[in-house]
Amino acid sequence: MKNSSYIEQAEQVLLHTYNRFPVVLEKGRGVWLEDVEGKEYLDFGAGIGVCALGYGEPEYQEALQNQISKILHTSNLYYSVPLAKAAEKLIKASGMSRVFFTNSGAEAIEGAIKAARKYAFLRDGRTGHEIIAMEHSFHGRSIGALSVTGNDHYQEPFRPLMGGVRFASFNDLESVKAQVTENTCAIILETVQGEGGIFPAKPEFLEGIKKICQEKDILLILDEIQCGMGRTGSWFAWQQYGVKPDIMTCAKALGCGVPVGAFVLNEKAACASLVPGDHGTTYGGNPLACAAVSAVFDIFEKQGILSHVKDTAPYLEQKLEELIEKYDFLKERRGMGLMQGVEVEGRLVGDILRKALDNGLIVLSAGGNVLRFLPPLVISKEDVDEMVRRLEASF
Ligand SMILES: *Cc1c(COP(=O)(O)O)cnc(C)c1O
Repeated sequence: MKNSSYIEQAEQVLLHTYNRFPVVLEKGRGVWLEDVEGKEYLDFGAGIGVCALGYGEPEYQEALQNQISKILHTSNLYYSVPLAKAAEKLIKASGMSRVFFTNSGAEAIEGAIKAARKYAFLRDGRTGHEIIAMEHSFHGRSIGALSVTGNDHYQEPFRPLMGGVRFASFNDLESVKAQVTENTCAIILETVQGEGGIFPAKPEFLEGIKKICQEKDILLILDEIQCGMGRTGSWFAWQQYGVKPDIMTCAKALGCGVPVGAFVLNEKAACASLVPGDHGTTYGGNPLACAAVSAVFDIFEKQGILSHVKDTAPYLEQKLEELIEKYDFLKERRGMGLMQGVEVEGRLVGDILRKALDNGLIVLSAGGNVLRFLPPLVISKEDVDEMVRRLEASF
């Protein structure tokens, strides 16, 4: 059947909240996707940074199949083996202390906000605490996560949002200091801003924020939903800065395709925040999701994914720099590891994405004028070369 016939059907029943590309993706192998017409696409989007292992990874599939044959769901009234294993591996990789599993990134942000508010409530014995968030940030679409998302366009129709949020400029420490009050309970930011246009935090900015947090007993929440899980060459991007958060959020590649997220706390935040009765979820951390998380950590270790990212990323960076040299409408490159953005000027990024799709290449956009590259972490240098060929054909 043709792409168009499925699309016509779907558009009659789906709520129109996405302007989707006119492609019906059916299956994948490695770093390649195939649509229902048999057309192949080289994938440099990974389902928005989710499919770090690419598609059809045998050990991952086997782990899921085994779990499906045992049990899918138990609820959080009970323990499960995958839950215990997944938690242990996430704690080991992050060097943090306690984890709460969620179903999505937005839900991880909600949990982080609640933990921070509870921490301050126990600290001060009162409510009314504030959170400092960044302009051009993205933390998700639920009301709490949207409230700390610094994007007027996303927020406006849904006001009033959660109160007590103040915005500062990313990478501008003075602007953060100006928003600190005696009511501040947390500062939340992405270690590398993703949707906003791929902006890595400057080391001195992150260090400065950490210092403010320590001086004023404010919790530092780092959103690693997009930049975490090996994307930048370390398990979590903050590990390269040596700035440890009090709470970290994680999702996207955490399950490599099975929907799962987490918020992870250090001992200080864990000891004095959420307790039984404060927070919960029916699905969060269910055996299927946790079997995926557990397998992902095992496969990353076995395949040396982190060192592979460190090997491959400089090559991608070099090739993108060469494109910038060659094409006037390509400006700056920004990014860390296999999370890269190239700023475009004088052409519509959407047009390039559509052309690329015609040429069998999936790339993403960010911040309106940025070409965003979030390939599966298993890409080879040859895949980078093939991407460049297809991208140039699309220019
Ligand atoms: C994708 C993303 C989210 C939201 O995750 P969902 O799973 O879509 O709710 C939050 N923060 C960052 C940095 C993201 O990239």
